[in-house]
Amino acid sequence: MKFIEVNNCYKVYKNGVSAIADLSLNINKGEFVFVIGASGSGKSTLIKMLYREEKPTKGTVSIGGVNVGKLRNRTVFKLRRKLGIVFQDFKLLPKLTVYENVAFALECIGLKSKEIRPKVIKALEQVGLKDKLRSFPNELSGGEQQRVCIARAIVNDPKLLICDEPTGNLDPKTSKEIMQVLEDINKELGTTIVMATHDKEIVNRMKKRVIVLDSGVLLEDHEKGRYKASETV
Ligand code: ADP
Repeated sequence: MKFIEVNNCYKVYKNGVSAIADLSLNINKGEFVFVIGASGSGKSTLIKMLYREEKPTKGTVSIGGVNVGKLRNRTVFKLRRKLGIVFQDFKLLPKLTVYENVAFALECIGLKSKEIRPKVIKALEQVGLKDKLRSFPNELSGGEQQRVCIARAIVNDPKLLICDEPTGNLDPKTSKEIMQVLEDINKELGTTIVMATHDKEIVNRMKKRVIVLDSGVLLEDHEKGRYKASETV
């Protein structure tokens, strides 16, 4: 079933830079997709259009049948509630514990603590951090902090998890562990994952679908792709 549909999409920034040009692609529910390409090839722009940080200049981006470019600003929060987003830099709140960081988003949408607790525990279990719930971010390793971010992103059972260079600040061993966490989420929870990355090792090892962007244009789209499929990457 088509879940994400990008149709003849263009993004031209205000300064005239064309970041995405005539991009069309579909992603099915439950897929795990890497978006790769040289720096400046449009990966982040594509990702930002998925969570409506940016709108297409022309064409459409739809998620679950909703044209996200057409959402009014005051309804964007409804889209964001259905998505989980993980960034390269952890963006955890330093004065809150692991538990509180994960619970925070659920408190913001008005859930009661009784409803919040089992969800937070389940999310922390999923990422293998249940025994650290009282720790503060500065007491955790980089990999553990990223696990907290992933727990925070999945705590509300999103259908789509968007990751922008989630291993960008991590060493190879830790990156491998984080990828295992993401693969488990994809397999066990059926969450669709779209991940922008530069990490060649990861892409080659995971053998997932690989979408290659080059100057905003779709260069390649391979099932079980490799990083080095294209000379331009
Ligand atoms: P990547 O994530 O692959 O590095 P980006 O999507 O960040 O690529 O950038 C694609 C192109 O759009 C680049 O030329 C970049 O300089 C430009 N760009 C990105 N964000 C903006 C912005 N907010 N305003 C103007 N140009 C931008």
